Amino acid sequence: MSLYFTSLNSGSNGNCYYIGNSQEAVLVDAGISCRETERRMERLGLDMGKVKAIIVSHEHVDHIRGIPVLSKKHDLPVYITEATLRHSGMQLAGRTFSAAEPIQIGSLQIKPFVKYHDAADPHSFLISCGQARVGVFTDIGRPCGELAHHFSMCHAAFLETNYDTEMLDKGRYPVFLKNRIRGGHGHLSNHEALEVFLKHRTRHLSHVLLSHLSQDNNDPDLVHSLFTRHANGTEIVVAGRYAETPVFHIDPSEAPIPKLLPIPQQQVQLPSSSLTKSSQQKNRPTQTTLF
Ligand SMILES: [Zn+2]
Ligand SMILES: [Zn+2]
Repeated sequence: MSLYFTSLNSGSNGNCYYIGNSQEAVLVDAGISCRETERRMERLGLDMGKVKAIIVSHEHVDHIRGIPVLSKKHDLPVYITEATLRHSGMQLAGRTFSAAEPIQIGSLQIKPFVKYHDAADPHSFLISCGQARVGVFTDIGRPCGELAHHFSMCHAAFLETNYDTEMLDKGRYPVFLKNRIRGGHGHLSNHEALEVFLKHRTRHLSHVLLSHLSQDNNDPDLVHSLFTRHANGTEIVVAGRYAETPVFHIDPSEAPIPKLLPIPQQQVQLPSSSLTKSSQQKNRPTQTTLF
């Protein structure tokens, strides 16, 4: 069994990720307008008729903006936790999920797990079809064991690389906002994501889509070259803020699957500031994202 996947948009201006097989698909988040979602899918040759559900990671507006219109127009069920729905302000009859129970959509299985982020009940997802597995890991305050475990199972992953530590430090954001971003319930820095990649990837990880890049505190070329230096055969792609990526395809049945052994770690110098995150940041749900 194989999976197709693409980022329709990624960043604080809107997130929407398509993952599916030849019969059915899901959208993880729908943070761009219905019209733009349709337009980008059409450009990629993706059929909205195959989309069977929208799965919601958390209530920040860059993840839910398009949901009311998109779900209504295309009669799509929305899978959302009770707390996320309550904080979202959306009026819809969502189907609830919890980290304890995978969601089954045809032959797609969506496994939610909790993450650190300043939202009511935020989740990441591992989407499987047979042996093929794609992870969606964005809006993460800090890496945790759950992230490491699920990342190590992936053939492909959307992995947040929100900010370059130095650019954030020296940038124009007010201190409270800088602290919110790097405070353990905000976002993952380039070097934190690289550490996850280097420590927890396995030999079957063929694609990493660098996601949710900050417009002000990151540089697509910089983070792409950072990861490419350590890619070791994994295709590194930046999921952009203004356009869709191509559709990628994984089919683990095409090649024998190696054992789930970590590949040898490479030495990488990480700035000390990226390794220490305060966990004192208050866990405040919010409707706005500025980064
Ligand atoms: Zn976001
Ligand atoms: Zn968020």
